[in-house]
Amino acid sequence: MKDENCIFCKIANGEIPSKTVYEDERFRVILDISPASKGHAIILVKNHAANVYELSEEDASAIYVVAKKVATAMQKVLKCDGINILQNNGEAAGQTVFHVHMHLIPRYKGDTVQITWKPGEESDILSDALLSEIKKEL
Ligand code: 5GP
Ligand code: ZN
Repeated sequence: MKDENCIFCKIANGEIPSKTVYEDERFRVILDISPASKGHAIILVKNHAANVYELSEEDASAIYVVAKKVATAMQKVLKCDGINILQNNGEAAGQTVFHVHMHLIPRYKGDTVQITWKPGEESDILSDALLSEIKKEL
């Protein structure tokens, strides 16, 4: 399933050429055009889904296997000190391309990449009522 107006659909399915690290029937892993660090790659699903909520169960369960495979190869070759694996959903979460993708961001000691938050207080933990409501949705 492709969205004709979606750039990541075009890249994932090979209509637009890209620097591809890995490809299989479900995914294409490409180098990010504006890398946060040396080796920053993104895993694109071939079936269009705007975000994790729309992602198929099959793609959802397979994506981390690809993340592990590529992250392991990158670590070996780039000798990075760490790798952040993350995926943004919604503008508020930093998503800018609305076709689901997972970032692999190699980290190097002393680099300038910022993926941080200020730890909250115990009082910020979700109430039991909301916790129950979420559980009911599962
Ligand atoms: P988001 O902010 O949606 O989680 O991440 C989108 C990512 O896609 C950004 O890191 C951005 O640099 C990258 N990106 C956007 N357009 C293109 C493109 O045409 N080619 C490649 N390789 N990366 C892109
Ligand atoms: Zn798409």
